[in-house]
Amino acid sequence: MGDTKYIFVSGGVVSSLGKGIVSASLGKLLQARGYNVTIQKFDPYINIDPGTLNPYEHGECYVTVDGHEADLDLGHYERFLNIPTTRANNITTGRIYQTVIEKERKGDYLGKTVQVIPHITDEIKRNVKLLSKNKFDFVITEIGGTVGDIESLPFIESVRQLKWELGKNCICVHLTYVPYIAAAKEYKTKPTQHSVKQLQELGIQPDILVLRTERLLNRDLIRKVALFCNVSVESVVQSFDVPTIYEVPLVLQRQNMDAIVLKKMDMNPGPTPDMKKWKEFLKRKADATETVRIALVGKYVELQDAYKSINESLLQAAIYNDRKLDLHLIHSEKVNATNVDKLLSGMDGILVAPGFGQRGIEGKFATVRYARENDKPCFGVCLGMQCMVIEFARNVLGLEGANSTEMEHTPPYKVIDLMEDQKNIVNMGGSMRLGAYDCVIRKDSKAYEAYREEHIQERHRHRFEFNNEYRQQFEDAGMKCTGENPDTGLIEIVEIPALKWFLGTQYHPEYNSTVVKPNPLFVSFVKAAIENK
Ligand code: GLN
Repeated sequence: MGDTKYIFVSGGVVSSLGKGIVSASLGKLLQARGYNVTIQKFDPYINIDPGTLNPYEHGECYVTVDGHEADLDLGHYERFLNIPTTRANNITTGRIYQTVIEKERKGDYLGKTVQVIPHITDEIKRNVKLLSKNKFDFVITEIGGTVGDIESLPFIESVRQLKWELGKNCICVHLTYVPYIAAAKEYKTKPTQHSVKQLQELGIQPDILVLRTERLLNRDLIRKVALFCNVSVESVVQSFDVPTIYEVPLVLQRQNMDAIVLKKMDMNPGPTPDMKKWKEFLKRKADATETVRIALVGKYVELQDAYKSINESLLQAAIYNDRKLDLHLIHSEKVNATNVDKLLSGMDGILVAPGFGQRGIEGKFATVRYARENDKPCFGVCLGMQCMVIEFARNVLGLEGANSTEMEHTPPYKVIDLMEDQKNIVNMGGSMRLGAYDCVIRKDSKAYEAYREEHIQERHRHRFEFNNEYRQQFEDAGMKCTGENPDTGLIEIVEIPALKWFLGTQYHPEYNSTVVKPNPLFVSFVKAAIENK
């Protein structure tokens, strides 16, 4: 292996252009050429990580195997590349400052004045290079935010320095937006020109431009952008709207983006990879004609990014079952015993979402009860699983008022309770049970049928757990604890084997479902939903 190569991806004009998808797609194309690739995200906000952020602020909080609460873009990186990310793959301004301030308090700066340049920028650069220790051929670093934001300036400055230090081993990709002005019936490149100017003012000349547009632009416009922005015509790549994000790698490949990257780094591109598996996946998606109707019941359904990994896992599972996913987002606050039948009877399967706090919880109980009493395939994830347990306690075991101590301080039956090691925690950030833990699966279970393995590892993000004092009562009445942590005895999976498919996981199976390796439980759940049709 030669030197690690660094690719920085910045964005201009507006946010939400899909820098994460472009980064993941480029990563995928390089990986398909046999390179060892990783992708990293820098977030310019002050929070140490997104773990304390409300989903309304920041969408889903993703969790890495090593228990880092991370930006949802890491989910895209994993789904596209099928490699795990870690804490080193997501850095915020807060974390950079925290480290620098800790060093200052220890006296590491030997009496120097601690400043943005060089101390903050050095810490940023150290974090970029940290990943190359793992012998990656390429480290792609996505810079969050939009060029011109005050917050991202230290990151951009670090990129400027790195570009200078690394020479040919470093390139910058800048993603901008080319809007269509309906009244003029024209696409406009001026915002792109300004955004590139802004980057140039900060000392960075982008090597490749990716233009986000709704439709394909004509060659004249591309030539104009190239001319005004100091890049060659072939280095202006378009990323127009496509029906699925999983087509983006192919869109970029058709424009030779990966080959252009390699040439810019003095590497020989060689033959273009055939992306066979990827294309097969897309073909299966395109060929599916019949649908499977899944309800996702949660309290953040109005927000498209809140359940990102669950949505993608369901989509992947549907494709692997040769079905189109017809996903119905149902607000848990709007579900009650009276309307539940109307809302859910037309569904083939129901997924009860994870979450925190009281809001919308009654709707989740009504949903779970409906699914259990009508034998509808039902999948409870984390809080969803806890709802399955509480509902069963109340309505089958007759434990009136049973609840989780998260919802009520002293319910008569604490069937879901705070984990022992959570009891003295005061700091909210990064203090849940986080990351991958072992789970041993009972062989006579739906979970085993799905995984075909007794020993699995799945990722967690919770403070409460199934209260083992009630285990026997649940088992006797037909809710089985089919997965358990071998070291702590914490219950990881519950099922009602008498029903077609009624299963809850304390862990989040959605975090490790990828395009080439969908999570087995999602595939099994969707299959059961189809059979239930
Ligand atoms: N609020 C629950 C807990 O902390 C469930 C968390 C979740 O759904 N991620 O245990």
